[in-house]
Amino acid sequence: MMDRQVLRQLQQAVGKDNVIMDREELVLYSYDATPEMPPACPLAAVLPQSAAQVAAVVNICRVNRLAVFPRGSGTNLSGGTVPLGGGVVLATLRMDRILELDPDNLAATVQPGVIIQRLNDAAAPYGLIYPPDPGTVATATMGGSVAECSGGLRGLKYGVTRDYVTGLEVVLADGSVARFGGKTVKNVTAYDMVRLFTGAEGTLGVITEITVRLVPAPQDRRSMLASFTQLAAAGEAVAAIIRARIIPATMEILDRTTIEAVENYAHAGLPRDAAAVLLVEVDGLTEVVRHDAAVVERILQESGGRLKLAADDRERDALWAARRAALPALARLRPTTVLEDATVPRSRIVEMLAAIQDIAVRHNLLIGTFGHAGDGNLHPTILTDEGDHEEMARVHLAVKEIFATALAMGGTLSGEHGIGLAKRRFLPLELGDAGVAAVRRIKRALDPDNLFNPGKILPEEE
Ligand SMILES: Cc1cc2nc3c(=O)[nH]c(=O)nc-3n(C[C@H](O)[C@H](O)[C@H](O)COP(=O)(O)OP(=O)(O)OC[C@H]3O[C@@H](n4cnc5c(N)ncnc54)[C@H](O)[C@@H]3O)c2cc1C
Repeated sequence: MMDRQVLRQLQQAVGKDNVIMDREELVLYSYDATPEMPPACPLAAVLPQSAAQVAAVVNICRVNRLAVFPRGSGTNLSGGTVPLGGGVVLATLRMDRILELDPDNLAATVQPGVIIQRLNDAAAPYGLIYPPDPGTVATATMGGSVAECSGGLRGLKYGVTRDYVTGLEVVLADGSVARFGGKTVKNVTAYDMVRLFTGAEGTLGVITEITVRLVPAPQDRRSMLASFTQLAAAGEAVAAIIRARIIPATMEILDRTTIEAVENYAHAGLPRDAAAVLLVEVDGLTEVVRHDAAVVERILQESGGRLKLAADDRERDALWAARRAALPALARLRPTTVLEDATVPRSRIVEMLAAIQDIAVRHNLLIGTFGHAGDGNLHPTILTDEGDHEEMARVHLAVKEIFATALAMGGTLSGEHGIGLAKRRFLPLELGDAGVAAVRRIKRALDPDNLFNPGKILPEEE
């Protein structure tokens, strides 16, 4: 139960209507999109509307030794917003103003609760886009995606969130408000604090304002699908396209299990006899698109791919709808979906896909894999049942093997979903003791009382 006096202070700080105490409503703030997380209900959820209000909440929580759990839309896949051990959820959804669109500086400044798609809609009339596009672009917040350093479908050509964030305002653990970076293209003042807070998963402070770079919208684009009877041939096509020095905006792969699931779910016209399909889109100036598309088509065919070209926007949308259906289609197959994002150097993608299939067979599990083939970022999706403890034990073994395999190939535990609660125990596998100790020292220096999002990223100390 929340102390009455503390509750009154929070209500004074953000207004009564912006403090949620009702236990049924609080359940909505107790989980995110991650399966198998421990039950955790906050004592309260607050929805501040300004940096000053965020600072007031942080001060109240620090004095009263209550943890602060920053939260956007709660769509993350690493347990990042689970309020472990109680405390106060600080949700940014009411800080949802686009503060400035500055086409002359190719920049925009937003509050953290702005939904990513809204920024893109606002930039479109200026012929500009904000490229990071996680699958949740229509629901996730800018604050959450900066804190996760989200990637997305266009990562291959356009990079990820950190490549666009140029300035941040952050409320620190002592309640002070700091600004780092800004609108300038160049900035080497002191340490790169913008990068440190981007991807910090809400463990170092609360982001209250974000300045991002925008880029010109591509003039033209062309999408195509190639189906392969051999997984290795699809991988070879990916490698050959990169070798030809063509960088498509998107190069996605779906394996046989995923193709089958998508067809049963969305009847998208994917070839059921294929071992894998590649979905490729090139974009840019019309002449460049024409050239790049011709090269990609040739390589896909030479690699044994059966081609289907999108003749117009309607056909393009249909192709991409099939890709977007991958996760919902797989998720229907079993009660629990464990979505991973192990990532390898792109030249090892076929080996990784084969290793995942082998792991599925050895542990007798249903795993569908899709993902961003061009970035080496795969999403092995284990379809299982949380209630079946024997099967879950096999799932845990499989996940551990997937990570070990990715790391052995020079990859990483997470390409875009973050570490959070779900993967913190694996952190030493990638960073080693020295690396984990360095991360811990940064956390202690900026958040000595372990106020922000405790229990995330770092493994428990022995
Ligand atoms: C179906 C589906 C598809 C997805 N596809 C992708 C994808 O393609 N690529 C990808 O990268 N991710 C993807 N995700 C994961 C997720 O959607 C992204 O990470 C998203 O950007 C999170 O935004 P959010 O507003 O939901 O953040 P939340 O889940 O609310 O929070 C995420 C993290 O950020 C912290 N945080 C939130 N706001 C702040 C703030 N203002 N200051 C400091 N910390 C803060 C939280 O504490 C938490 O650790 C997908 C998820 C789902 C369910």
